[in-house]
Formats: sequence, structure tokens, C-alpha cells
Amino acid sequence: MSRTSAIGALLVACWWPLAPPAAGQKAAPRQASVKLYVFDCGRLKSGNPQPLLDRGITTTGMSVAAYLIVHPRGTLLWDSGVIPDELVKPEGTTEARATVHKTLSGQLAEIGYKPADITYLALSHNHYDHSANANQFAGSTWLVQKAERAVMFPETAPPNPSPARQRFRALELSKTILLDGDHDVFGDGTVVILSTPGHTPGHQSLFVRLAKTGPVVLSGDLYHYPAERTLKDFTPFGALGDSSREAASKAKVEALLKEKSATLWIQHDILADAGLKKSPGYYE
Ligand SMILES: [Zn+2]
Repeated sequence: MSRTSAIGALLVACWWPLAPPAAGQKAAPRQASVKLYVFDCGRLKSGNPQPLLDRGITTTGMSVAAYLIVHPRGTLLWDSGVIPDELVKPEGTTEARATVHKTLSGQLAEIGYKPADITYLALSHNHYDHSANANQFAGSTWLVQKAERAVMFPETAPPNPSPARQRFRALELSKTILLDGDHDVFGDGTVVILSTPGHTPGHQSLFVRLAKTGPVVLSGDLYHYPAERTLKDFTPFGALGDSSREAASKAKVEALLKEKSATLWIQHDILADAGLKKSPGYYE
């Protein structure tokens, strides 16, 4: 599989190219066919379940997933798991609150991909449960918000860098497209990174237009539990970020979901995730 060369159109003013053609104009080319694979990257125990239980959330564990989007113009890996593949034993590995049974590279290999085949890597954000295998994809073109990269690679290295940093440090030298807002990954409106800051300064979510399934939005950590969508005052991880920016990002995504009749896939929603078809199955 050849790697598509990454051409960095940083800001795309309009990423919905599907307005009906005016009379006399040629119809737009057919939509590219897009496939979405869901990888099982384990689960996380809640570190602080009581506030969740208090609000009636009785299933406090969280799923961890990564996703591969296959587009005729290239591939995009979205998020990269919670435990690095080299530490994952066949019988499963537990590290702190995370347990993982399957490697990300093994799941990619099962459908015929090596890390070198991945055109683009995008992380919803830098936290350890999304970035554990990032180093494997340092040869891909990294799509990252400017504000997130600034947190990950500050000009002055912190005196006590987090262990998570070791697991994404190779990205520092990756070919990088720095984003400052939404980004149409393949230029046809089918796969669009949505800037959703708040949980982290450069947090992002992902819109994917699937021809049969319909449009979906991968949440990143904009939400962790579905109850957060209705309990407006409930942000169990609000303290990690900027709650007012997070609220604005939630409003942006909720409006988009409505406008596009899209379905939100909350990545840590263990109940919804259990119902998803996992790779080698896929959504299209
Ligand atoms: Zn997370």
C-alpha cells in the first residue's frame, strides 16, 4: 500500500462540499467510499466511581478504542490505546487501572496494515489512555492542533515529565500538520477533524461520513459517559481541563450532530462499545 504524500492545506474554509449543483453545473463526483474499523484497546476502571454512582451511572468502567479510517486517498489512525503493544501479553496485561488483551499492531496486521501503511495519525488528545502506541506511528503524518502540540512538547521540558510522554515522544520529529481549528483530512468532507478544546487545550473529535452507516462523530473525551449529554452540570473530568471551553465544544458538536443527523460514538462508553462491530469487521 503506498503512502499518500501529505499536502498540508492547514485551514479549510468549507468542509461540506455537498451542496446540490446549481442548474447547468455538473453534478459533484460520487462520494468516496470510506471504511471505519474499530479496534479493541482494552478497558479502564474508574478511579473515582462514587460521584458517578451518585448520579445514577452504575456502569463506571470505560472502554478504550482506536479506529482506522480507510479512504481512497489514504488511511487515518484515530487514537492509539492505553498500554504499549510491547507490554501486552497474550493472556492480557494490567497496568494501573487499564487492562488490555489485544495489541493494536496485531489488530492492524489482521486486516493487512503495518504502521508504515498509515498515512495520518491523529490523537483526540495527549492523555495516556489515547497515546500509548503513538511512537509506532511516528512515520505517519501527524495531525495535531497547535495548542495540543505545545502542551506535549513545551519549549522548556518539564522537570518531571509524565511517563505518558515517553510513549508519544517520537512524534516530536514526525512530519506534522499543525491545525488551528477544523480540518478536512482528505479534502472531500468525508473525514473531518473537529476542534473541540476544553478537556485539553487542543482536544479534537472526528466526523466521519459513512455511506451505509450514516455520519458518525468519534467523541474523543468530549464526553466519557452518555449521561453527561443530559446532565449538563455533570463533568466528571471537568477539573482536568477548561470547563467553559469544553461546554462550548459540546455545544458545537451537539449542533453539528443535529444538523448532519450524525450519531455520536462516545469512545469510553463501555456499553455502546460492546455493541460495536470490531475489526476485522468494519462500518462503511
Ligand atoms: Zn480518555
